[in-house]
Amino acid sequence: MQKRVLLVEDEPEIRHLVETHLGDVGCDVTAVGTCRHGEALVASDTWDLLILDLMLPDGDGLDICRLVRQSESYLPVMMLTARSAEDDRVLGLDTGADDYLAKPFSVLELKARVRAILRRSDAYANAASEAESRPAEQLAHEGLLIDINRRAVELDDIPIQLTAKEFDLLLHFARHPGRVFSRAELLDQVWGYSHEGYEHTVNSHINRLRAKIEKQPTEPRFVKTVWGVGYRFFDPRIDDSPAHARAVS
Ligand code: CA
Repeated sequence: MQKRVLLVEDEPEIRHLVETHLGDVGCDVTAVGTCRHGEALVASDTWDLLILDLMLPDGDGLDICRLVRQSESYLPVMMLTARSAEDDRVLGLDTGADDYLAKPFSVLELKARVRAILRRSDAYANAASEAESRPAEQLAHEGLLIDINRRAVELDDIPIQLTAKEFDLLLHFARHPGRVFSRAELLDQVWGYSHEGYEHTVNSHINRLRAKIEKQPTEPRFVKTVWGVGYRFFDPRIDDSPAHARAVS
């Protein structure tokens, strides 16, 4: 089945390049050149992938990305940019983009990245439809309740709104209580990036997650910092043991 791709890019050459080559890999590409058009099409139609230029004549591609991330349904986003500074990459991923391609890019890399994103979102959609047919599966830690099928979280019976990535991160931790993950491992296992340079993204997501689920984000109960290594989730065998109580008292 053809994948519907919306491209928001003001440079005609790049639009042509993307349209041609993603057509080769079974994508039906709709291309527009302004934020205004992009936002209108995001709101009025359904898409399998959104490809956004960073600098558009009437605004910033990141604004469209933010808009998309506020909606409940998950739409994969890939950012394109002429600048390749680390800050831009981090900003793109922090805003909720799934991947990032710096111009100039090779056609092979474009196709490979798009295929990888679509593969991941297919796997996610399959898992989600399978999950719906199974009975509810929940994880509970202290007052924190994670409903895996509904992708919903409650703290002391109060619903907590998490973004898709914050939920994935929390679920990954909660499935492995006590296990220490480095930032690179979390990027690999939660974001699906194996390359270096995005570690800052992990920190900022963890800070936002803590602000939502921790009563005292500076003294986290659930997501703990392991200095010089990374992070781990609350584990009653470690955190509530008499030895630990003695150690911290
Ligand atoms: Ca541009």
